[in-house]
Amino acid sequence: MNKEIINNVITRLPPSPTGLLHIGTTRTALFNYLFTKQNNGKMLFRLEDTDRERSKEEFEKNIIEGLKWLGLDYDGEISRQSEKTELYEKYLEKMIKDGFAYEAEENKDGDKKVIRFKNPNKEIIFQDLVRGEIKFDTTELGDFVIAKSLSDPLYHLAVVVDDFESEVSHVIRGEDGISNTPRQILIQEAIGAKRPIYAHLPLILAPDKSKMSKRFGAISIDEYKEKGYLQEAIINYLALLGWSPEDEQEIFSLEELIEKFDIKKVHKSGAVFNIEKLNWINKEYIKLMTEADFKIKVLEFLPKEFGNKIKENDKLFNKILPIIKERIEKFEDVIIMLEEGDLDYYFEQPEYELEKIFWKDENDLNLLKTRIEKSIQLIESVKEFSAEKIKESIWDYASEKGRGSILWPIRYALSGKDKSPDPFLLSEVLGQEETIKRLTYVIEKINSTKK
Ligand code: GLU
Repeated sequence: MNKEIINNVITRLPPSPTGLLHIGTTRTALFNYLFTKQNNGKMLFRLEDTDRERSKEEFEKNIIEGLKWLGLDYDGEISRQSEKTELYEKYLEKMIKDGFAYEAEENKDGDKKVIRFKNPNKEIIFQDLVRGEIKFDTTELGDFVIAKSLSDPLYHLAVVVDDFESEVSHVIRGEDGISNTPRQILIQEAIGAKRPIYAHLPLILAPDKSKMSKRFGAISIDEYKEKGYLQEAIINYLALLGWSPEDEQEIFSLEELIEKFDIKKVHKSGAVFNIEKLNWINKEYIKLMTEADFKIKVLEFLPKEFGNKIKENDKLFNKILPIIKERIEKFEDVIIMLEEGDLDYYFEQPEYELEKIFWKDENDLNLLKTRIEKSIQLIESVKEFSAEKIKESIWDYASEKGRGSILWPIRYALSGKDKSPDPFLLSEVLGQEETIKRLTYVIEKINSTKK
């Protein structure tokens, strides 16, 4: 795909540090990043912390660290609006001098003064890269307030001054920013700033098409990290929230996204958040992990106690890893496996009630004993103890007697669970000695009920 490179692209990432890094901001950051990278531009980072009450240092840290974790690097130093009061003051003074702004009462009966913008009441037309031509009659905005005082600018003024001072060429932001654009364009015209090119991204919606909220799942990137989603998977998924490639490809590295992403192909309609899709993508990335990386990550999620138990049985653990890999979509699922008892039985003889070992409505203990004894014999004869060879050793016998009647009791004896990997794989993982031991345990159990 040959998109022409646009020269001198400067974008900006201007989060307000009033909450944790959330998926909406991250998707906006990603689209800015992709667009910037494909044009060899620069992406600036500034904290819009003019709301001093709601801005918190912990949120700043969270946003910065989250973006770093995801690999969405920005260029240059972080700037803070709270540190640029003098700059805004200069612009405010000039606007007042030039007749574009004036001091006035905040409301009819108040004695508090604010600075209002002198609205020329005109129609604003701008071309949005995503939404096309947008027209807006600014008359309805009245003479809106742009600062509480010379040293206390409000949001729109600060945004326009910052974008102008740092020569921002493209403003790529969420659709909720559309209604801000006419005001910001009016201020640009008043201070003689060049109008940047706008692209407003569709909102991220919950499955019922309402605005995405906590009710529908995690909002903050931290929560996804804690649940064990991988950075690459989050990036890959977010890229598809509001954009899709021309072909059917769904798994993209960041490099591929830089190559293929096209801001002009961003959808106009809201992007519905689909957790199943994210899970699927995450699983695809899990499949790509090396055994060593996968192991580290699994251990990270398991409680310490259990982790220690595993370390003592490293060889066994290495054999269980592929089974875990098969089962999970995100690393948090390892804890679910543990809680449901799907890991314990690898490390210790499971306890269970003898009745449950019978296939369907079979109930003849003598017959069960004979069959287990025969199975032990067959399994003992296996030389190279692999799932395949184990299966070969027992398959004819099982087919003759009924597969469920033979294989179910073996599986149950090994795992003590209704659901578990097949008995051949289980045997291989446990090893010949342990497999025989667990089958012998069935015989002992049968003998002790008969006494
Ligand atoms: N500080 C705004 C926010 O966090 C960004 C608005 C913009 O991109 O102009 O929503």
